[in-house]
Amino acid sequence: MPQFHDLINSNLIQGKIFFDKSLENLTWLKVGGKASCLYIPKNKEDLAVFLKHIDSKVKISVFGRLSNVLIRDGGISGVTILIPPSFSQLEIHKNNKITLGSGLLDKNVSQFAYDNNLGGFEFLSGIPGNIGGAIAMNAGCYGSEIKDIIDEVLILEKDGELKSYNNEEMNFSYRNSTIKTDQIIIEATFQGRHENKSNIKEKIDSVISSKEESQPSKVATGGSTFKNPKEVKAWELINSSGLSGYKIGGAMISPIHNNFFINTGNASAEDFEKLGEFVIHKVEKHHGIRLEWEIQLIGESIDDI
Ligand SMILES: Cc1cc2nc3c(=O)[nH]c(=O)nc-3n(C[C@H](O)[C@H](O)[C@H](O)COP(=O)(O)OP(=O)(O)OC[C@H]3O[C@@H](n4cnc5c(N)ncnc54)[C@H](O)[C@@H]3O)c2cc1C
Repeated sequence: MPQFHDLINSNLIQGKIFFDKSLENLTWLKVGGKASCLYIPKNKEDLAVFLKHIDSKVKISVFGRLSNVLIRDGGISGVTILIPPSFSQLEIHKNNKITLGSGLLDKNVSQFAYDNNLGGFEFLSGIPGNIGGAIAMNAGCYGSEIKDIIDEVLILEKDGELKSYNNEEMNFSYRNSTIKTDQIIIEATFQGRHENKSNIKEKIDSVISSKEESQPSKVATGGSTFKNPKEVKAWELINSSGLSGYKIGGAMISPIHNNFFINTGNASAEDFEKLGEFVIHKVEKHHGIRLEWEIQLIGESIDDI
């Protein structure tokens, strides 16, 4: 990739660039191949310079904490961009509005909102990604989601220009938004509401304890594997298809929460994908409902390269 070597040598870029960098240990599922070029920007200005200097035909894939992705074993071609914790703007405005950098961890945002008597952010205490990932996925739990609190999103387009999108323009739906793979969320403004600390704490405690009671902890997982179909939970369909604890290679359906797949230690991305496809097939056979992946399948399988 001579283009990128030239960029590094030019000293125009302050962030870090790696070639053929394994992503396995960076993902929550602890599987996946290499990024042919991994770029971790220093800040949004650095990122804009980078985008302006690369060929517009180069494929771009952007991620946060990699908690909702299954990166295939063949890795990712083009440029993979990871938004680091240094994208950490935290500004509080009048009327209970706050602006948040996309690299902030969801749980830290929930804590910040608590510290400042802002209600509406409690659900973020149960989600392991960062704010950019939460916006792109319209993340949510227990009846609340990003769509309920977001006002405006600042996005860096592939040509290096910044553009603002309001809530409506983001087209949020269940675990989805309008974001395309080459649009990068830089920051967003959220609308909170004034609330007393004891109410906020009660809600945060309830989110955390509900998660602890119902989901596996201290294991490599990507959270919910499939979206819940209307009126029925994906885990119920998987359970009643007799698949609790089912395993392919090192990938297993968690017996604690059947919509969570876990890495028992030596899984490959292919094991997870095969397990997912097997579940989709079995559930459709038993219930006539076709499950849809919530985890994003990214990159190439070994057979493709
Ligand atoms: C144990 C566990 C529990 C979970 N519980 C929940 C839950 O309760 N509710 C829920 O909704 N999710 C849950 N998840 C899934 C996941 O944590 C969320 O979807 C989270 O918001 C993803 O954030 P991330 O930073 O890890 O995104 P990534 O996994 O890195 O990326 C996810 C998607 O967002 C895009 N993206 C990420 N950052 C940016 C950016 N800056 N600009 C543009 N696009 C971007 C990526 O391209 C990708 O398509 C859980 C996951 C785990 C492992």
